[in-house]
Amino acid sequence: MEVIDCHSHVASSRYIPDEFFDGWVDNILATSGSKDDRHGAALRQVFRKINEDPLCDEYVAQMDEAGIARAVLLIIDFKYVYGEPFDDMVEIYRRHREILERHPGRFICFAGVDPRRGRAGVELLELGIEQYGFSGLKLYPPCGFSPSDERLDPYYEVCAQYQLPVLSHIGPTTPSLSFNFARPEGIDEAARRFPQVKFVLGHAGSTHFRDAAVLAEYRPNVFLDMSGFQAAASRGRFDDLMRFHKENGILNKILFGTDWPIHRLLGAQKKWVDRFKQLCTDGILTQRELANIFGETFRSISPSSIGAA
Ligand SMILES: [Zn+2]
Repeated sequence: MEVIDCHSHVASSRYIPDEFFDGWVDNILATSGSKDDRHGAALRQVFRKINEDPLCDEYVAQMDEAGIARAVLLIIDFKYVYGEPFDDMVEIYRRHREILERHPGRFICFAGVDPRRGRAGVELLELGIEQYGFSGLKLYPPCGFSPSDERLDPYYEVCAQYQLPVLSHIGPTTPSLSFNFARPEGIDEAARRFPQVKFVLGHAGSTHFRDAAVLAEYRPNVFLDMSGFQAAASRGRFDDLMRFHKENGILNKILFGTDWPIHRLLGAQKKWVDRFKQLCTDGILTQRELANIFGETFRSISPSSIGAA
């Protein structure tokens, strides 16, 4: 059974800025009630450390151990919202292409663009697809836009033309960004207007998983990725979540994902793969259902990425 991870990122502060993890630490401290500054400083260091694998060598070693054949690397355009130069994005694309070449056959890359870049953004997406072999579009609406914003239409037209999927982050994120646009229903209008484009709701809707499941059930072109539930699993809430999706009859709309490197503290990649296999052992999933989640469904929505570099 070939495992494809449909949601991950290159671990590097060049791609996931320090502000991102620092915001997470602020929230961990606030929710834990910690008043100890040393605790915060130590946690910041830990998150810096898990975000250091810029060439994906450690990542590939963990994929090998876990039996993950391929993983999607999602580029996020944080540069627009943090006011950094456009040329940085071109450089980020180029470096991702180098990673595809460094580990042949192991990675698939989705281009990330903030739609407020207008025509330059569309050209960046086309550059990624045509020159660098990227196989999809990653959106990060908490940067401050709705995934149904009409400014995204030209981007979706490119995706329709090349038959490429769109994966959008859904759910709360680092506190320096907006949660306003992070709800599943934000995708609804785009999914209706572009029925030929496959939309994947990141983290299966996260805290909004019920609303995400409704879209997956009623919109043929909406899918869910199961990355990011490692913490929920550690609290014993994963089996019920998968039963919920099974009862809704949407297991064929679900994709395996890890969100590497975000949850590295909760265990190696193998631990998350094994957690899905456990669902079979426990009779929650059949082998067929697991095979679909592990890769068959991704192949069906992203045929062009399989066989790419
Ligand atoms: Zn992610």
